[in-house]
Amino acid sequence: MGHPVAHSRSPMIHGYWLKTLGIAGAYELKDLTPEIFPAFIANLAGNGYVGGNITAPHKEAAYRLVSGRDAAAEAIGAVNTLWLENGKLMGGNSDTHGFVANLDDRAPGWNVTGCRAVVLGAGGAGRSAVYGLKERGVEVHLVNRTVARAEELAARFGPRVTAHGFDAVPRLLREADLLVNCTSLGLAGKPPLEIDLAPLKKSAIVYDVVYVPLETGLLAAARRRGQRTVDGLGMLLQQAGFGFRKWFGGNPRVTPELRAMLEADIVAKTPIS
Ligand code: NAP
Repeated sequence: MGHPVAHSRSPMIHGYWLKTLGIAGAYELKDLTPEIFPAFIANLAGNGYVGGNITAPHKEAAYRLVSGRDAAAEAIGAVNTLWLENGKLMGGNSDTHGFVANLDDRAPGWNVTGCRAVVLGAGGAGRSAVYGLKERGVEVHLVNRTVARAEELAARFGPRVTAHGFDAVPRLLREADLLVNCTSLGLAGKPPLEIDLAPLKKSAIVYDVVYVPLETGLLAAARRRGQRTVDGLGMLLQQAGFGFRKWFGGNPRVTPELRAMLEADIVAKTPIS
């Protein structure tokens, strides 16, 4: 559910799992205006659905409209996954799950003792990442262009999350075990993220949640320096598993075949810059 929603790659992901797990079900796109969204989810079962995902511009409205929320949605202030529990409409946020599960999958051992992360961006993706890292005991330094937005989040998430402007990045990178881009910079069609990775330790991991292009400028620069890198496509795939388990059960796995399908679609639809 979104407005617009036609660009979504989620039907491809859920369709793959429904088919490979042999489950009779469907995952469909619904373009819903903000005017009709509340009534549609209030009667989700009546409309024939056991749940669904929510994208812009409905995530905050969904947060307000559900009967119960999981801890991640509560902390982040946005709901992107709906399911029914004993007839009640529940809301969760799968991005935190996806963000952390992708790290566990692609960079095992990332959470070193005393792990320090620098997260760039305090929008929706940034909030999910910071919450997930904080829950795993990581010390988080949150950098945002609009510093007040990072400060508001740091105040909400407690003393292990601190707020900074971009001027602090060179100093913060020296101590970082993990650098994460959660800004929209580096996304196809947006300006690049321009930061100097020179202060980074050789052991530091660089993670970009932007996945179009698959290898962003940040990840290419990190790879050239020999840093371990994690791309954002795994996050998209892992977050989808969260909803699938709630609606259909089974064990939806992020297989090389599924990843390759999505990679091919991204490459086919991304203009070469
Ligand atoms: P958002 O809520 O709109 O936040 C955008 C963030 O980028 C804000 O922190 C914003 O800073 C910053 N930003 C934008 N332009 C900037 C500039 N010129 N200089 C410095 N900072 C700038 O967006 P979002 O939902 O968090 O998404 C961010 C990116 O993550 C998108 O590219 C999206 O595709 C990707 N994403 C990936 C996944 C995944 O599954 N892999 C999931 C969610 C999002 P201000 O606060 O100062 O405006």
